[in-house]
Amino acid sequence: MTSPLYGRMMQMPLLISSLLTHAARHAGDTEIVSRRVEGDIHRSNWARVEQRARRLAQALRRLGCKSGDRVGTLAWNTDRHLEVYYATSGSQLVCHTINPRLFPQQIAWIANDADDQVLCFDLNLLPLVEQLAPQLPRVRHFVLMTDRAHMPAQSALPGLLCYEELLAAEDGHYAWPAFDEQCASSLCYTSGTTGHPKGALYSHRSTVLHAYAAALPDAMACSASDVVLPVVPMFHVNAWGLPYTAALVGCKLVLPGPKLDGASLYELFESEKVTFSAGVPTLWMGLMEHVRGQGLAFSTFRRTVIGGSACPPALMRALEEVGVHVIHAWGMTEMSPLGSLARLQPKHAALPAAEKHRLLEKQGKAIYGVDIDVVNDAHEPLPWDGEHAGHLVARGPWVIERYWNEDDSPLVEVQGRGAWFPTGDVATMDPDGFMQITDRSKDVIKSGGEWISSIDLECIAMAHPAVKEAAVVAATHPTWDERPLLLVQLKAGASVTREELLSFYKGRIAHWQTPDDVVFVDELPHTATGKLSKLTLRAKYKDWLVRKS
Ligand code: ADP
Repeated sequence: MTSPLYGRMMQMPLLISSLLTHAARHAGDTEIVSRRVEGDIHRSNWARVEQRARRLAQALRRLGCKSGDRVGTLAWNTDRHLEVYYATSGSQLVCHTINPRLFPQQIAWIANDADDQVLCFDLNLLPLVEQLAPQLPRVRHFVLMTDRAHMPAQSALPGLLCYEELLAAEDGHYAWPAFDEQCASSLCYTSGTTGHPKGALYSHRSTVLHAYAAALPDAMACSASDVVLPVVPMFHVNAWGLPYTAALVGCKLVLPGPKLDGASLYELFESEKVTFSAGVPTLWMGLMEHVRGQGLAFSTFRRTVIGGSACPPALMRALEEVGVHVIHAWGMTEMSPLGSLARLQPKHAALPAAEKHRLLEKQGKAIYGVDIDVVNDAHEPLPWDGEHAGHLVARGPWVIERYWNEDDSPLVEVQGRGAWFPTGDVATMDPDGFMQITDRSKDVIKSGGEWISSIDLECIAMAHPAVKEAAVVAATHPTWDERPLLLVQLKAGASVTREELLSFYKGRIAHWQTPDDVVFVDELPHTATGKLSKLTLRAKYKDWLVRKS
């Protein structure tokens, strides 16, 4: 490093352990509060989490884990899961979070594909892991994330280890190792709406850079004064990076454990004075039903990031009415996940409220670190006019280059601009760079050569007072190839007719885009990450219009 071309700054790799040691040293007594699976509210802090993570790192090495090995987790948002995050990545192991809501066969497939050596899991998932164990021949150790008092008298799992006992057996004299920041830190599989799930393998560098960007004022605007409650699970793209961002800014973290019902969440928001949160739309619908049903208000909660699927404007308004500003964000597992957030620019300050809303309902502007563009089928860039919808592509240091265990890179060459990741989303960009997702490529409705956005149609239906949730899918049509079919779940006790719902579209959308029919359902299916399962709906209702005609 003596070349005159180099700067003369310290060569320090961007490592995840540095986030934790920073929080422990400079915000050591800032609280980490968890609703544990055992039922109690547990109070820890950054200093304690760091000490315990060091002990766990020692224990994992003692169990035979070697640099680069994957440690699987099947766990909710709790302090112990946070410790596993930092102990694994910090000691050069890979933290592989698995979604416990997936089908058991999928969990086994994912754990085997990742070649997990150790599996750490929560108490209420013991029966699931016992059932899975015969399909996990390569997992060498099963660690139940609880204390001795809650360990089962006997278990089908051979040599089941107790988390607290593992920690107690270590002395904590462990120095976080320094290594190349490009080393793998954590692994998360996409929910696999088509085919097998695929793993996104994050690096220390990508994770730390993402944590910085997420904290910025025009992103999540996190500071040490915040109390952050990630409703988004730690098994869903590292809870959108919040466990890292919280350490970076040194703020209080409130972890809701497995209880994500409206009443339990509301209680935590109030008792812990939460200011900021993040989650997918369906979760907020549940919480808002509780808040409105009981006539409640929030005393400290002021803003939340909503993403993972399009946030219905009706939900944004509902949250606004109780004083919570919604930051609509877009991202994906392959992007760590943050790509864009809807934040106004100074020139929008004087706009009428309705126009501000229209901008804030979009998926927003790219944050530094991610570049986005829309391209046509030949991968040529499309104009940023808010009109041309095309394939959304992205690139940046926290965007995937290739999937775990796959040789081929999914990147595409955009004319004259190098390699980009094709997101599978369809979007428009306006002249100010506000991106709006109109669909996933596979959900868009292709009617007589024109594209109809299923998201637009869903958002309109959800603005109807009788509608709890709506999904629009492409149904085969003899003349038009595909036509939109609206599926709705009504609110309890509400009623509305097919005709009333269809006429609700008048004046809100071009007439030809109005759904062809309405199906009332008791419940809409969701994926393991809480999104509408369009795959299930399409399989069931694809022939609805043909059958009716
Ligand atoms: P999966 O592909 O398994 O659902 P992700 O959870 O990573 O995995 O989901 C990413 C996808 O979710 C995006 O490609 C996009 O289709 C959708 N998505 C995420 N955020 C939004 C949003 N704010 N509006 C619309 N769609 C979104």
